Amino acid sequence: MISTLAPAYAVENAASGRDGSCPSAAAAKTAVTVVRGDGIGPEIMEATLRLLEAAQAGLDLRQVEMGKAVYERGHSAGIEPSAWDSIRQTGVLLKGPITTPQGGGYKSLNVTLRKTLGLYANVRPCVAYDPFVASRFPGMDVVIVRENEEDTYAGIEHRQTAEVTQCLKLISRPGCERIVRYAFEYAKAYGRKKVSCFTKDNIMKATDGLFHKVFDEIAPQYPDIENEHWIIDIGAARLADTPNDFDVIVTPNLYGDILSDIAAQITGSVGLGGSANIGPTAAMFEAIHGSAPTIAGQDVANPSGLILAAVQMLTHVGKPEVAERVHNAWLRTIEDGVHTPDVYDGSVSRQRVGTQAFADALAERLGESPKKLAPASYAGRKPLDLPATQPAAKPKKELVGVDVFIDWDRPGRKPEMLAIFLQSAAQHLGMKLKMITNRGVKVWPEGLPETFCTDHWRCRFVALDGGPVTHGQVTALLGRIARQGLDFIKTEHLCTFDGQPGYSMGQGE
Ligand code: NAD
Repeated sequence: MISTLAPAYAVENAASGRDGSCPSAAAAKTAVTVVRGDGIGPEIMEATLRLLEAAQAGLDLRQVEMGKAVYERGHSAGIEPSAWDSIRQTGVLLKGPITTPQGGGYKSLNVTLRKTLGLYANVRPCVAYDPFVASRFPGMDVVIVRENEEDTYAGIEHRQTAEVTQCLKLISRPGCERIVRYAFEYAKAYGRKKVSCFTKDNIMKATDGLFHKVFDEIAPQYPDIENEHWIIDIGAARLADTPNDFDVIVTPNLYGDILSDIAAQITGSVGLGGSANIGPTAAMFEAIHGSAPTIAGQDVANPSGLILAAVQMLTHVGKPEVAERVHNAWLRTIEDGVHTPDVYDGSVSRQRVGTQAFADALAERLGESPKKLAPASYAGRKPLDLPATQPAAKPKKELVGVDVFIDWDRPGRKPEMLAIFLQSAAQHLGMKLKMITNRGVKVWPEGLPETFCTDHWRCRFVALDGGPVTHGQVTALLGRIARQGLDFIKTEHLCTFDGQPGYSMGQGE
């Protein structure tokens, strides 16, 4: 969708003389699309925009609407074409949280935005502000770089049988390369010392295995940055227990979603976290929290997450000096004990303020720096300049079999009986039934009676001679299976790539 259109900020940055070309146009404003959002969104956005104005950020704000109201006007995705046009023109979106209907209605707008705009890198700094905001981990400063487009978030789900539903987990090599490289380039640009990769490749050897493999390929290209890999379960436990052992963490989408909330929470409050969603031609900036409907309209919400997201936005659009001023004023406000109710603590806080008064306190401190917390410094900071990913050489692909998934619910669910039907279906086709699994556990041949079986069977067929098979053999097999009265629900082809199996092996293979 977004292909050739140059983001407006790039053009305006050139016009403003930041590239040294046209100092006379230095007053040109940077166009930013703004979505106020739902729940507390409008009030925290109001506070943030007033602050940006006070900071003379030089932004040309273009407000668009998204979410429930748009959905109710008949736009099934919750976004109007004019909103897409605005984002494509500006290339920058500052967004308030949006309520996602649960269990029905339109798809998550956040996921739609990230994926449609190709915002592949979700960057969430998780910083503790102890002693001004109580945290069990003083000094915590971890950045989670979450892959933002792939994994189970493709949203490809199917109910396949009466008992079984499925969600596809898609991981691509270019997707891994982009996010891993982004994490290392981020670490380099921000003076970070270590990048840790979290996956579950001991179980998901193909998908998470690819992510880990790409990490191992790219890491040596950054010899000054330490690298390590953690299995996600123990890695997450360590992050929750000793977060100061980590610096930058790069991880697939679902793990990143969960980990970044945990990491933000243990800094002291999710209300303080901002995030950047970065793509090649567009970027979106938002607080990490949601629309908090129960406190909406009460002027108690903490606008800090959105303000810190705006700080990330300012560096992204080439306004590092404004970003630094806003961030340092924010640190000073926190340090001065001017706190919203979510972080107010009588033992350290001095003034309990509402959303708008917090923004006013911050505006009063523009130009000041924190005295105890480390001041922010963005001098010379530019958007990361990532090399384009090179397409990998195409491996030789060969079809060597097929997994046929069958919905079968005969009394007793005896796999031996299913195997008789399937063996007969494969006869004279040059193929044979190799195994049947149920929820991944081999139940034929040599299954155990103790294994619990659902109505969802994976039946693996390979060539009689162990060699390649043709698509014609596969379709003939499916025809025979259907004529046996069996309900096949999907197939997965078994392919080798340069002779290496591109599929998980069943037990005992
Ligand atoms: P939430 O983040 O909205 O709220 C969790 C808790 O944190 C609540 O107690 C809330 O009052 C509090 N909280 C959140 N932000 C706060 C702030 N700025 N100041 C003070 N307290 C704050 O999470 P939820 O309740 O699970 O989600 C509510 C809605 O937001 C859902 O529809 C969800 O889908 C959506 N959501 C949107 C985004 C987004 O737009 N990026 C992200 C997460 C959730």
